Amino acid sequence: MSEKNVKDLGFQTRAVHTGNGVDGETGAIKRPITMANSYELPYDPSDLNWSSAGKNLYTRNGGSNQQYLQEKVASLEGGEDCVVLASGVAALSGLFFALLKSGDHVIFSSVTYIAVYRLLNELLNNKFGVETTIVDTSDPENVRKAIRPNTKLIHIETPGNPTLTISDIKAIADIAHENNALLSVDNTFASPYNQRPVELGADFSIESLTKYIHGDAMGGAIIGKKEYLDIIRAQSQINLGATISPFNAWLIMRGAVTLPLRMKQHNENALKVAKYLKTVKGVSFVAYPGLKDHPNHDIAKKQMTNGFGGVLSFGLKADHDTYNRFVSHLNVITSAVSLGHDESLIVFLGENDERQYLYPEEFHNGFFRFSVGIEDAEDIIADLEQAFKKENLL
Ligand SMILES: *Cc1c(COP(=O)(O)O)cnc(C)c1O
Repeated sequence: MSEKNVKDLGFQTRAVHTGNGVDGETGAIKRPITMANSYELPYDPSDLNWSSAGKNLYTRNGGSNQQYLQEKVASLEGGEDCVVLASGVAALSGLFFALLKSGDHVIFSSVTYIAVYRLLNELLNNKFGVETTIVDTSDPENVRKAIRPNTKLIHIETPGNPTLTISDIKAIADIAHENNALLSVDNTFASPYNQRPVELGADFSIESLTKYIHGDAMGGAIIGKKEYLDIIRAQSQINLGATISPFNAWLIMRGAVTLPLRMKQHNENALKVAKYLKTVKGVSFVAYPGLKDHPNHDIAKKQMTNGFGGVLSFGLKADHDTYNRFVSHLNVITSAVSLGHDESLIVFLGENDERQYLYPEEFHNGFFRFSVGIEDAEDIIADLEQAFKKENLL
């Protein structure tokens, strides 16, 4: 397929074709993986800028597999440009380090990936003098109240890890822009199949490519306007060294092809499992934005256009030991961190999380975060059912 026609096509077609092309040298219908770290210089290299990300020069400056993946992810997220980096955390820190300086103020969601809390509240705040305010961004008015004259960035995560808290992207983008601030949204839990923050008005969407986009290889992405991304690309790759390996970029490129197909199954399975869990007597609560009783279900429905993702959290009417025994009975579902993978993964998040006071009350006595995989929903539910039975929780 000729590349110039791809832009206007549907999501699945772009997942297949964007960033791919026929290899000029061999005629192969897939672009090859290029594992070289260095590229041939022109006749007179004296004018080259060694800190430039524009030309293939050295893999830390940029390479072909990175560029192909950037094209694909930018297209899926509906953004002008994209930079792909070594991990989701490299993307978050790349964004923060490039945009913020001492004296700037950042507002961020009370429920975020743990590294966001460490980076903003501890590292950038304590070591570099960046002011930070943590707010419950599920109510946009809390964001408005926290704005200061020096607010530079608002960072939200929706759905938030691990409570599945939903924040209204469009409403918060408006508040940010009325106050000359920028909005970044961690879109990892939704994936671009379900939610595209840049189209909703955010300045940046952040993805851990490690999760839904691929599941095996590590990577991260920042999607947004070229004027910012050129700066972020140069700083985070060339000067901070968070470059993704060509091999990981190539693997993630292959994974992204089936993202829409997998997301359909994740969305369907998670909704089925959430509804099942609601019927179990020993379950104390179920947090999933697709359930009508989720406190922000209406906003989730508005901004997550294809489904609500594969992650949910739930609690047991049981003690700490029962949680661990319950997991030991599972056969189809694996006890492991991470999420968005093909296989169902469950993790017990105990009572000792230092940020617990920031979570809704039902999360305070320990709970499960459950990443529902793409197995048959009946098998996942049967696996849960036999484990509930063994602990007399049915
Ligand atoms: C996993 C995760 C990250 C970090 O991604 P890595 O690829 O592990 O660095 C960031 N945000 C969210 C919401 C995540 O779940």
